[in-house]
Amino acid sequence: MISYPFDYVRPESVEEALEHLGGDTKILAGGHSLLPTLKLRLSAPDKLVDIARIASLKKIKKDGDEIVIGGAVTHREIMDSEIIQKHLPVLSEGAAVIGDPMIRYKGTMGGSLAHADPSADWSAMVLAAGGEIVIQSKKGKRTVPATEFFTGFYSTALKDGDILIEIRFPVPEEGTKMTYQKFTQPASRFALVGCAAARLPDGSARVAFTGVADAPFRDKGVEEAVGDWSEATLEAAAQKAAEGQNINADHYASEEYRLHLAKVYCKRALLQLVN
Ligand SMILES: Cc1cc2nc3c(=O)[nH]c(=O)nc-3n(C[C@H](O)[C@H](O)[C@H](O)COP(=O)(O)OP(=O)(O)OC[C@H]3O[C@@H](n4cnc5c(N)ncnc54)[C@H](O)[C@@H]3O)c2cc1C
Repeated sequence: MISYPFDYVRPESVEEALEHLGGDTKILAGGHSLLPTLKLRLSAPDKLVDIARIASLKKIKKDGDEIVIGGAVTHREIMDSEIIQKHLPVLSEGAAVIGDPMIRYKGTMGGSLAHADPSADWSAMVLAAGGEIVIQSKKGKRTVPATEFFTGFYSTALKDGDILIEIRFPVPEEGTKMTYQKFTQPASRFALVGCAAARLPDGSARVAFTGVADAPFRDKGVEEAVGDWSEATLEAAAQKAAEGQNINADHYASEEYRLHLAKVYCKRALLQLVN
């Protein structure tokens, strides 16, 4: 199908982009989630504001003790970045399992987080890596921890007139280990269930899931149960996966099967972090 007609602008800066927002306007980044909704006429904006080439949104940098990924950096750029490979290799490895080459060349981390598909991969990794989302509007900038960014089914802390400009991560302390384990939906390659986990040098854990519920989440129950990281403890911790969550059910997987996958992939992720 062909979408309704719309205006298209390609601003040079975030400030210029902000001037265009408002009314029935949509931000366009990689377009891999937005354009299908236009073609299916699920969405009919008057104007698209293409932010994909705004230079300040295309940077990956180390800023003191933080790694900063610009809002329009593509999955592929994250996969290939030497800074990411050095400091947050889990993101480079995670990018490699998103979609197919075309999706990775055009799709952006910012677009994925803003879209908040409940099965998107980045959300779990950003949560487990302790990420923060930087948002700019005409009123200024604000920073939202990833734990407060995802507010429900396809919904986030972004408001009309906001642009997600950066994702910031603490540079992991020496000895930190992270992994992302995913059961791939074979047609779309989205995560039927994905579990990202981090083991910090003090023995604590950050564990996050995508694909399991309406929104991605940090799993405090599992995090508190990892104990001494012995295999028996991790087995028991993984059994707590997604406790208290409303588990999704759809034509790909029943609630019972998704919960089973959450436990299996949680255990796999935790075991990856032993030794
Ligand atoms: C066939 C296929 C397979 C895929 N497989 C996977 C997969 O395996 N794993 C996975 O995680 N994803 C997958 N995706 C999704 C893909 O990663 C998308 O590119 C991504 O979800 C959206 O990013 P985008 O840059 O394309 O955003 P767009 O489609 O351009 O935008 C998506 C939404 O976010 C808004 N938006 C975009 N950028 C910003 C910003 N900086 N600030 C505020 N709002 C913004 C837009 O207005 C729009 O509402 C797949 C998509 C397709 C079509």
